[in-house]
This record gives sequence, C-alpha cells and structure tokens, in this order.
Amino acid sequence: MTPLADKETPKTSNFLRQIIEHDLNAATYAGRKWGGSPGDAAHHAAGQPDPAKVRLRFPPEPNGYLHIGHAKSICLNFGLARDYGGVCHLRFDDTNPEKEDTEYVDSIKDAVQWLGFDWHNNGENNLFQASDYFDFMYRAAEYLIEAGHAYVDEQTAEQMRLNRGDFVKPGTNSPFRTRSPAENLARFREMRDGKLPDGAAVLRAKIDMASPNINMRDPAIYRIRRAHHHNTGDKWCIYPMYTYAHPIEDALEQITHSICTLEFEDQRPFYDWLLDRLAEGGLIASPHPRQYEFARLNLTYVLTSKRKLAQLVNEKRVSGWDDPRMPTIVGLRRRGYTPEAIQLFAERIGVTKSDSWIDYSTLEGALRDTLDPIAPRAMAVLDPVKLVLTNWDEVMGAGKLDDCSAPVHPHLPDLGKRNFKIGKEVWIESTDYEETPPKGFFRLFPGNKVRLKYGHVIECTGATKDASGKVTEVQATLIPDTKSGTPGSDSVKVKGVITWVGVADAVQAEVRLYDRLFTEAHPEADGKDFLENLNANSLSVVTAYVEPSLASATAGQRFQFERHGYFVTDLKDHAAGKAVFNRVTGMKDSWVK
Ligand code: ATP
Ligand code: MG
Repeated sequence: MTPLADKETPKTSNFLRQIIEHDLNAATYAGRKWGGSPGDAAHHAAGQPDPAKVRLRFPPEPNGYLHIGHAKSICLNFGLARDYGGVCHLRFDDTNPEKEDTEYVDSIKDAVQWLGFDWHNNGENNLFQASDYFDFMYRAAEYLIEAGHAYVDEQTAEQMRLNRGDFVKPGTNSPFRTRSPAENLARFREMRDGKLPDGAAVLRAKIDMASPNINMRDPAIYRIRRAHHHNTGDKWCIYPMYTYAHPIEDALEQITHSICTLEFEDQRPFYDWLLDRLAEGGLIASPHPRQYEFARLNLTYVLTSKRKLAQLVNEKRVSGWDDPRMPTIVGLRRRGYTPEAIQLFAERIGVTKSDSWIDYSTLEGALRDTLDPIAPRAMAVLDPVKLVLTNWDEVMGAGKLDDCSAPVHPHLPDLGKRNFKIGKEVWIESTDYEETPPKGFFRLFPGNKVRLKYGHVIECTGATKDASGKVTEVQATLIPDTKSGTPGSDSVKVKGVITWVGVADAVQAEVRLYDRLFTEAHPEADGKDFLENLNANSLSVVTAYVEPSLASATAGQRFQFERHGYFVTDLKDHAAGKAVFNRVTGMKDSWVK
C-alpha cells in the first residue's frame, strides 16, 4: 500500500524536522560512510559514502504486541526517513535475556508492514537484532576498562544504593573504584567466564559520583546473569545494561538521529559520554548518533503499556491481543482501523516535547475522515422489529417484490449501485417507532408519514405489542407512486427518512458493538487500579439484518452502515455462511460531554 503522506503532502513542521533539516543544511553527516551492514569504525571506514541521508531506527523489545503508542513511533521514524531521503532500521532490542517469543517478533514485523512501512531500503535489508552486537559490546567494555573508564564493583546492591546519594546528596565513591585497569580487566574476564555468582559484581562506568545527574554517577553497564538467550544461547553469563547497549546499537548501525521518548532525557548525557569515549578510542565511527526525545503518546480511555495489556490478555478480560477493543495494532486492525487512519492520526497529533493526553476522539476522527470518502455504504438494522405494509397486496400485488437501488458511495459514481428489494415486510430499527412521540420525533408513530430510504413513503397506522408491552410488529400503509427516483417521489413531503432492509432478501448477521474498554478517560488516575475501570458494556453482540449486497463481503472489508457508523467484517470469524461485523466507530463522537 502507499503511505498516505507522500512528498506532495505538506507536513507540519516540528522540532525533529527542524533538527534534521538543520543537520542536512549543515552537512553534519555528509561525510559518513556505510559499510553495508552494522559494524565498528573500521568496517564503516572501508565502506562507501552512505547513500542514506539520515538513518533512523525503530527499536522494539520483542516482549509483547505493539500498541498505538508504538504506531506513533513507527510513523515518526519511518516517516522522517522517507521524507528526508533516509532509511529506517527495524531493530529488535533483545539484549535482555528474557524468553523471546517468535510470535512477538513476527507480529512486530507484520505491524510495521501493515502500517505501510518497510525496512528494506536501497536494496538493503535493515532488519537487525541487538544481541548480534554482544561481541562488540564486550570488546567496548574491555576498552573502557583499559582506558580507565570502567571498573568492576563488588559492593553489595544495598551498599551501592546507599552510596549513590540522592537529588540533594552527592554519591560516595566505591572502595573498588581505584582498582587498576589490569585488576579490573582480570576481574571482568572472571565475570565473563562464570567465576562469580549472579549479582556478585557489576561493571560500572567511571564518571562522577557527585554529578547532579544521578545517571552519571558511575552507572552499571554489565551485570552477571545466568540466563539462556534465544540468539546467543549460553555463550554469555554477563549481559549489558540497556543504557549501555542502546547507544552502541545506534552507533554500530550508523544511526544519525536516535529518537526516543522523554523518560530517556536524563540518559542523554551518558549516551553522549559513552559514544564520545568509544569514538576517542577509534571503536565507532564519527560523528556518532545523537539522541532526541519526544513526548510519548497518552490516549484517553486507553492503556499504552505492553505489560498492562498483557495482564488484560492473561486475565482473560479480553479475548486476546487482537481483541477489537485492544489498542494493539492487531486489535485496531481487527476493529477495522486502516493504516491510512493511523498514519493520519500520527500526523495530526504531531510530536512535542511535553507530555499531554490526546483525546480518543482524535483517533476515531482520523478513522472517519479516511473511511468516509471511500467506504461503501449499506443499510443494516441492528435492533430489528418487523414493519408490515398492510396495503401491499392491493397496491403492489400479492407476493411481489419491488426493486430498489442506491449508490455504493454518494460521491463515487464509478462504484455503481447496490440493489435490494422491498416487499410487504421489512425490518426497521425498533427505536424508529414510538407510540407517543416525544417532541421533535419525526419517525414512525400512528398517523405520521416517513420515507423508507431509497424506497417509498409510508404512513404508520399502529403496532402490535406483546404481554409485556414490547412492540412486536409495526404496521403502515404504502403510499403508491412515491418511490425514490421516480417522478412522483416528491409528491408527498415527509420530515423523516428511515433505514430498513427487506425481510425477503436481508442477510442475517452477528454484529459486535464495541465501545471503549475503560469508563475513565485516565484509567489509572489517582493511583486507581485500571481493572476497576473496565467498561462492562464494552461489547454487546446483536443479531442484525443487513442488505443483500453484503452477502459477498469478505473478511476485513469496511462499510458505512447508514446512520450507524463504520463496520468491518471480522478478520477471524467472518466467513462464508457466517457474517460477523464489528463496529469500528459511530457516525459521530458519542462520548462528547
Ligand atoms: P511498553 O512499556 O509498552 O513495553 P516500551 O517503550 O517499553 O513500551 P519498546 O518495545 O521498548 O516498548 O518500544 C519501542 C519504541 O516504541 C521505543 O522507541 C519507544 O520510544 C516507542 N514507544 C513505546 N511506547 C510509546 C508511546 N506510548 N508513545 C510513543 N512511542 C512509544
Ligand atoms: Mg520496554
């Protein structure tokens, strides 16, 4: 598919665009070389001038399904690369030896591609995994030790915590801080060789225990952890810390602009410190990558944390990662969201440097604005009651069905017409009949005339109720020669038009009416447990009737059901013989206060 935003679409500028434009104008990265794959300084020096003007990356941890917050980051990174003649790498950040699931890896690749992006650029396959860099990370650690920039600390975790100080109190140097490089190197190799138990020692960068930035107070860069790694197996019993691994991953991949969320702002000085040291040592190419932070997406009524979404799945609060109420990309997709809608959403919310909440209606608005111009229309009755046209046999003929048609899309005549039939009995919405109409009600009540959309004008004569008072059938008479599109159609003026489907040709369907998963805009505000704010009515399933044109709908097709909103055939459960439609969103924002 083509990304919605192309070069012709003017983009709203933002601070990241300005930084990149500045770097391009100043030729900051113009002399960069690219060795054709990630690597150290020598590898790139032997390469060609980099054909990519900028290199960005999207670095997910493969420990869950991606959500709408990741989608923002994907659109941002891949979008900037596309707009500035660059490339964007997809990098699995798998330095943490946790059980990695190929299910997650596959779903992440799927999500990026579905959103309309690709990590294949200029004939390169820029799909990487951070654990492939373990050897280099180890070598860089030995270099730091030899250069006097790192030491093995054997204080207990508790001592280390106490000696770190706090915001007002500077830290205290570890008694191990003055070990010689040779001693540190020997000890670090013992760590690597499994001579020390888990947690007995860490390798720390030697920076400044009095730094006002606590992250610069000799941060740990390697720890001992006997854990099997999905890629490197049992080769390592020491693993790099994320704050050490990430800058190195960026540097080996020749990333120019490393974009991350605001919580990493305080890590930037260490990012630069580390890469400056490694560049000095000639281990990585110069100029090294720079980190820039933007505000993560917070969306009202939505949780954006893989861990919490996993909890909803594991506790069976939803049917799975792809439950249409989930803000995961698979969930949004099954709900009926399109890549275009998500790209438009990302473009509209832009990027900022301060945290804020985006209203859920912005996401729904982007969906409506992208679907309205293209979605085929259809009529559907979600809460059906039978309407009987009592004079049908006299005026139209017993058993006769009359042809009706409507445009597939009101503004796209090329899509043609949809055809359906009206007969003596049609299904209408039960809410379209009122025995005693409230003020301003223009639909069916005894004595009132309405038009059956694309059909005839009818006059309501009454209704039948069951013992409980529930209306079981509505009656009306058809006014002849008033059919839409015929010369007589304007002869009777009506204030109300109602949607319907014919009993004779309607298709029965299961319709899943989805709503927000949480009742609170901020499901965790004031320390609340998000599970207590689950919306008990986030799903209701109804048996509906839809017009016959939908009989041939295939899974994943989107429609506008007139008056009701946008619907999609369910990707999993819709099949020949079982019609299942999910409500994507209503026609308008129904949650506006
Ligand atoms: P989670 O807490 O859901 O696991 P994460 O940030 O730990 O999120 P990663 O897989 O490490 O998830 O993230 C990959 C990329 O996605 C990171 O670069 C991160 O900045 C970005 N990202 C994650 N959540 C959001 C969000 N809510 N808004 C914008 N970007 C996000
Ligand atoms: Mg994470």
